[in-house]
Amino acid sequence: MMKQIKPVCAECEEEYDIDRNGVIVVQVIDGEPVRNWRADRMKCPECGHKITSNYGKSSNLRKPENSKLQEKRKKQIEKGGMIVADDGQYEDCQALYVIGD
Ligand SMILES: [Zn+2]
Repeated sequence: MMKQIKPVCAECEEEYDIDRNGVIVVQVIDGEPVRNWRADRMKCPECGHKITSNYGKSSNLRKPENSKLQEKRKKQIEKGGMIVADDGQYEDCQALYVIGD
């Protein structure tokens, strides 16, 4: 079995705790959800900084068979999600949203 390395907060040098299992991370380009992953939301016990980790396989929401899922993700984002990246940290990505299922 592979040993899992836990992410560590660079500020506090503390291991992140799992804050919420199974959040959905959605990549959005031009207002359109294009890809999503299941991941865990982690929180630094010291400073409260949150990250996402333990990513599973992604789904391409642009595929015709995923059109219903894409619509669902769009509605979920409109309701409000936590933006984890919106400053071009990821190539081709204007925003990454974390939403519940
Ligand atoms: Zn911290």
